[in-house]
Formats: sequence, structure tokens, C-alpha cells
Amino acid sequence: MADFPTTARVVIIGGGVIGTSTLFHLARAGWKDCVLLEKNELTAGSTWHAAGNCPNFAPNWAVMNMQRYGLELYRGLADDVDYPMNYHVTGSLRLAHSKERMQEFAKVSGQARYQGLEMDILTNAEIKERHPFLETHDLAGGMWDSLDGDIDPAQLTQALAKGARAAGGHIERFCPVTSMDQDGDEWIVKTEKGDIRAEFVVNCAGYYAQRVGEMFKPFGGRTVPMVVMSHQYFLTEPIAELEAWTKEVGHKVPLVRDVDISYYLRQDKNGLNLGPYERNCKAHWVTPDDPMPDDFSFQLYPDDLDRLEFYIEDAMARLPLLGEAGIGRNINGPIPYAPDGLPMVGPMPGVKNAFEAHSFTFGIAQGGGAGKVMAEWIMHGETELDMWSVDPRRYTDYADHEYCLSKALETYGHEYAMHFPHHEWPQGRDKKHSTLQSRLQDAGAQFGAYNGWERANWFAKDGDDTSEDSTQTWDRDGPWETRIREEVEAVRDGCGMLPITGFSRIKIEGVGAKDFVDGLSASRLPALGRVSLAYFPDSRGRILTETSIMVHSDTEVGLITAATAQWHDAEIFSRQAPDGITVTDHTKAAECLLVTGPKARDILGPLVDGHDLFRPWLSASFEGTVAGQPCALIRVSFAGELGWEIHAAPDAMPAIWDALLEAGVAPFGMYALNSMRIEKGYRAWKGDLSTDYSLIEGGLDRFIKFDKPQDFPGKAALLAEKQQGRKKGFVTLVMDAGDTDAPYMAPIWHGDEIVGEVTSCAMGYRTNKCIALGMVRANLLAVGTELEVDVYGKRHKAIVQEDAPLWDPNNERIKA
Ligand SMILES: Cc1cc2nc3c(=O)[nH]c(=O)nc-3n(C[C@H](O)[C@H](O)[C@H](O)COP(=O)(O)OP(=O)(O)OC[C@H]3O[C@@H](n4cnc5c(N)ncnc54)[C@H](O)[C@@H]3O)c2cc1C
Repeated sequence: MADFPTTARVVIIGGGVIGTSTLFHLARAGWKDCVLLEKNELTAGSTWHAAGNCPNFAPNWAVMNMQRYGLELYRGLADDVDYPMNYHVTGSLRLAHSKERMQEFAKVSGQARYQGLEMDILTNAEIKERHPFLETHDLAGGMWDSLDGDIDPAQLTQALAKGARAAGGHIERFCPVTSMDQDGDEWIVKTEKGDIRAEFVVNCAGYYAQRVGEMFKPFGGRTVPMVVMSHQYFLTEPIAELEAWTKEVGHKVPLVRDVDISYYLRQDKNGLNLGPYERNCKAHWVTPDDPMPDDFSFQLYPDDLDRLEFYIEDAMARLPLLGEAGIGRNINGPIPYAPDGLPMVGPMPGVKNAFEAHSFTFGIAQGGGAGKVMAEWIMHGETELDMWSVDPRRYTDYADHEYCLSKALETYGHEYAMHFPHHEWPQGRDKKHSTLQSRLQDAGAQFGAYNGWERANWFAKDGDDTSEDSTQTWDRDGPWETRIREEVEAVRDGCGMLPITGFSRIKIEGVGAKDFVDGLSASRLPALGRVSLAYFPDSRGRILTETSIMVHSDTEVGLITAATAQWHDAEIFSRQAPDGITVTDHTKAAECLLVTGPKARDILGPLVDGHDLFRPWLSASFEGTVAGQPCALIRVSFAGELGWEIHAAPDAMPAIWDALLEAGVAPFGMYALNSMRIEKGYRAWKGDLSTDYSLIEGGLDRFIKFDKPQDFPGKAALLAEKQQGRKKGFVTLVMDAGDTDAPYMAPIWHGDEIVGEVTSCAMGYRTNKCIALGMVRANLLAVGTELEVDVYGKRHKAIVQEDAPLWDPNNERIKA
């Protein structure tokens, strides 16, 4: 047996499927001196369940990518490492009870095809052909995933462990990590068997991740935003009819997910396994009188079958065979939930050289891919595909215990729910308010949450249907549509205002601050008194972020960036800042009110003192007042009209708002802003702008300054791409409008081939055109090229436009 290691390049805490997969990928990539510490036996966390379902489907593009990779790995893993895994590819059926669900399936089926998967839409008769025991008379149809299946989680973990060991990874079992310490840049991982010095550490502690996260608090860590839910399924006794059928045809019935009712139902040996995600779900270990035990491995919660009653009855009507057998065994185990139910895979917020991969609700299906993503973060500091939707930094200070609990209950109870574009989930709201909140409410605002901040999405008028029910549609048309059009027209013809609450504000200060920022950006920094957009590439020249930037002096630079980018963007700088340079967050110091439209100057004129409203576009003025309130004016408008962002202390905002309202300025919301920014071709972060695209692919060439004296990350890659030519490029498409806007990642077709994807889409009410922004192969960028976009299963004609804004192409209105 190998000696206990005292040094390691990477220490992984936790030997479930995720930690083991991370070790496997690191070792296979040649990182041999990596150690996994498990306080118990290698558990697979879930040795309590006979088989983990392994769907390809995930309600999220990045997760689906991660999952697809994992399942590809599983297919060959048993042979590769010579360890049998009981992996059955049974295929699966998802059942639809509504037209909207069928639209969702059509969307997913299109995306799946783009990823090289097969997810086919089925009629009821076709469902019956695949699963003769199902009742289908009341269904709208279904979706078939040919690659779905189940796997033995314990064997999967052992297979990954065997592969990892063979490639040089070290696994230390029965070795609880008790605390962390640091010595310079090195970690000292303290265990009951001794200390290990390491360059990097990874928290893969599953449902214990919050507890392990506490060990990182002295080094900048936060409370890990997660909750432990109980998930139950039961296994029936063998069913003779099922056994006979299986013998006859030689395979099991496919897995079934009745997603509108909210359960999965699959064959386990000759019995059935029913697992609901019930609305009346339960969290554990969330109150002081119910503390988390030090070790719960191999244990279960007591049975709680009453909670499942509704689902059992429904499933018995769907699959009458289920009623023919008694319940054999009930399994009620812990399952970690982040507020949105997606895992946390990436850098540990606030802590250098530390990572985390935990809170997996589908860790068996996702483990293979998650290990790959985690290994990429550790080895390269970046991932092959954009993984923002699982990045731990997507949750910031607002994600407290009450938030995590209410969201986890909501998410678990709606595990299979559809996520409609105009629906805002009701739980976990009102975490952060603008000082204008009551005024916005009075004006009819319908809110959405942005990094915990409530922002107006649209403004309802008396009689408008603002119920949650009204948002259960993929269609553009809804009570909001007329209002969005009116709001846009008010901005186009007069003047509108929108509080862009929660803009993230980052200040970088110290000797050399400007040079430091300059060295990270591909763009040229603005002169004093000016504002500009700056792009920050990763080492491969891909788009890490975009910020508004103002240089106050050589020693002070201010950045304003997306609300959701708050921790992500701050860490781009804080993780690299040399001694003497500080990176501080000033998000709560000021609020932003965008005032925009051709009459903006006339309206602001009488209210302004000290600011010159004739200073040019992209200028910034810091000394002056609006309505007697001290504020800065920045001459930019994401709506693409004459306009200013007013930045003022939160307390100053109500007086400014009141004065502008009095002067006739019309409030507008984020939906109207989205429509207008798309008409201008302005990109949005983590939609159009992500690490899936290089700056050159993103059509941002004019923001890349190769002749800057400073080197910047990704410069060599971008230069090479410039010389060789980009493989794909950003495109604006005008589409046949139809009833629905194209969803994120809708495939773009050219003839019989998928040639790209939509990154955002909306109706433009100034141009009266349905506009999609996206990426297509470089040879299809010529103006007038006719493409098609798959919108919920229907192909819409889409024509490539000039590389210029559709609205006000020469920026005359902005510069007026
Ligand atoms: C009833 C049930 C059914 C499920 N069905 C499915 C399914 O069908 N498909 C699917 O994909 N997923 C399913 N899951 C979810 C799946 O089991 C989990 O997502 C997965 O096991 C998580 O793996 P993990 O490695 O993140 O965590 P875990 O398996 O919990 O591993 C974490 C490890 O960290 C160790 N650890 C904790 N603290 C320390 C410490 N201080 N020092 C050292 N080690 C430590 C623990 O001992 C544990 O072994 C199900 C879960 C349940 C409860």
C-alpha cells in the first residue's frame, strides 16, 4: 500500500462519483500527483440506489453538453478500465400533456440534434410501440431519447477510481479532512492521518459541501449556497407480466418520465422503480434543532410514502402494471440542491487556488462530464465550453439560507417544469431593492430578479393580466407585448427611463492600476472623462467579459458591468492583482437610471446643473446635479437613442425619478430594453458574449487593439485567428416572425445542415422585425444569405443582415 502522501498538486475532498471523476480526468491528463481524500469508503454517495438514471436531456445547454460528454465516456469506460458497470442503454420516453410541453420537446430535440444526439418527437402510437404497457389516450405526444439508460453508481465510481489509480492518481480512504490552512500560496490540508501540502484543493463533498466550505471561510470563502433535500423512490416486487415480456423481447421497457406530473418510472430487474419530484417536498438539516450528523454515509431517512401518494396513484393509472405489485423497498436519501438545481462546478468564490464541484442533483448522469470540466478549471483556469450556468460565482451575497431553502423547495417541486421566457419564479424574491422600488410598484412594474435585485421587466396597466398563469407560454404574445411596444415607442418618440438596478461596480486602485487593467483587456482604455466598452479575453482569445470602463487617473479605474457578473468580473482582477493594487466592490454605493429618447436632452436640460448635455457620446461627467441631487452623467444608452445613465447615491434617486416623471418621462422595463438593444446589435453577456466565442468570432474586431503597448491574454491566439480567418462569425438575422421568438441556442440551418445557433432573439418594435443574433459558419456571413432558424420545431426563414445596427445604423440618434 502506498504511503500517506504529504504533498500533492491537487487535493480533492470527497470520494463520491464527482471527486473520483475529477481525479480520473486529472490523472488521465498527466497530472499524476493528485490525491483524493474520502472520509469513508468510496461511496458513490448513492450506494443506496441500485441504478442512477442517465438522461441526456438537461434543461440547460451547458449542462446538456457536460452530460453528453459524460455519457460518451461511460459507454467505453468499462472496457477501458476493465471494470464492469452494469450500464443499460434502455432509451427513455418523456410524456407531454400539453401543446407547450410538445413545443419544449421540439426545442430540445433541435438542440440535441445540434449536439449529435437523437431525441425524436413521438406520437401516442409511437410511444405505445416502444412501451406497450403505458396508457397514452390522454397524452399530447412524447419525446424519445435513444441514449438514455441506467448505470450502477457504485460500480461507476469504482471504475473511475480504478482508471484514476492506474493513471497515477492516489486515493486515501477513511481520511476525513478536518480543516484547512495556508502557507504562502500553498494549502495545508489537515486530516486525521496527517497534513498534505497542495497547490490546489477541490471541494467535492456532495451534500457535505456546505460544511467543508466552512473550512475555507478564513481564506475568503462564503457559506456555500445549498440545501439538502430528501429524494425518495420505491422499488416494487417483481411483476410476472413484465418479466415474461422482458424475456420474450430480450430487453427492458424504456425509462419513462411523466414530466408534467413530475416523476420517473423505470424497470429495475423485473420490478418497477418510481421516483417522484413531489411539490410537497422536504428539506433536511435546515433548522438548528435538526443538525446535520457528522457522518450519514450509507444511511437513509425514514420512509415518507404519504408524500408520494398522489404520484403513485397517477403512475398506476399511466402504467397499470405498477398496481399489480407490492412495494418492495423504499429509498429516501439526501440530495444536495443549489437554489436553481444546477450543480456548482468552478472556482471557489473568494478563495484563490480552490475549486468546487458539488450540489449535483443528477451526479450520476453528470459525473463523467463534471470531472472533465473540473479538471479543465484546475489545469488551465478555463474550460473548453462555456460553463457559466454551473459556475459557483453565479450566486452572490443575496443567496442566504432563507433564499436557498425557499428556492430549493421550489426547484425540487418543479424539477421537470418548463422555463417559459416571460415567467419569473416566485420564490426567493425581494432580496435587494432599488430605492425606487415603491415608485416602480406604483407605476405597475412587473419585476424580475437580476443577481437578487428586483428590476422592472415591463409596466402593466389597469386590467392587464399579471397572473403567473398568463406567463405559461412560449409565445411572444401575452399581456406584456402591447406594453413593451408602447414602452419602446415612448423611448423612440420621446423619452423613457429605466432603473438598471444592481449594475456591478468595481474599483481598481493603487500605483499602476490603469496599466494593470490595460494589460488584461484587448481594448484601448478611454481617455479621462470618457467611457468605453472594454473586452477581456481569456488565454484563447475568447470573451471572458465586457465592461464599461472609466479611467479616473493612473491609479484609479472604475468598471461597470452586468449585475450577474458581480463576483465573476471582480475575480478577473482580484485574482491577478499585484501587491499594492486593490479591487473593491462598490455596487451598493450608487444606482443607475437610464434616461433615453430623442427628447432626453430637452427634458433633462432644465433639471441639470453643472453637467454639460452637449458633451459628446461616450463622455462622462462627474460634477453636477439632476433635480438638485449630486450625480454623474454618462452619455451612453443601451437602447440606442440619445441618452444618459444617471449614476447617483441610492438616496438621491427618488427625487431624480420624481422630477423626471413630473417632466413626462415614461418608465420602461427590461423587456423593452432587450428588444431595443437587439435592434442595435448590442450583445448581452453570457448570451451573445461567452467563452464559447472568441472576440473575432464575436465580431468585436474594432475593440481589439493589437498595437497596444501592453500584451494582453489571448493576443497570440487572436492574432493567429486573424491571420487564418475565423471559422464562425456573429450575425444579425431578420426572421419570419411567427408567434414565438427563437430560444437561446435554437439551431440555425442552411439546407440540410445545422450551421450555427441563435444567441438572442426578440421582436424589434422600432424596426417591426423579428431579429435574431447568433453565430454561423464564416462562409455564410454574406449579406442576404438565406438561412433557417428552428423555433420550437418549426423552421423560420432568416436572412443575414449587414454588419451594422438595424436601427439607426450610423448612430445618428445616439450622437445627436
Ligand atoms: C434516492 C436518490 C436517487 C438518485 N437518483 C439519481 C439518478 O437516477 N441519476 C443521477 O444522476 N443522480 C441521482 N441521484 C443523485 C446522485 O446520487 C448525486 O448527485 C451524486 O451521488 C452526488 O455525487 P457527489 O460525488 O457530488 O457526492 P457524494 O456521493 O455525496 O460524495 C461526497 C463524498 O464526500 C465525502 N466527504 C464529505 N465530507 C468529507 C470530509 N470532510 N473529508 C473527506 N471526505 C468527505 C463523503 O463521505 C462522500 O463520500 C440520486 C440521489 C438520491 C438520494
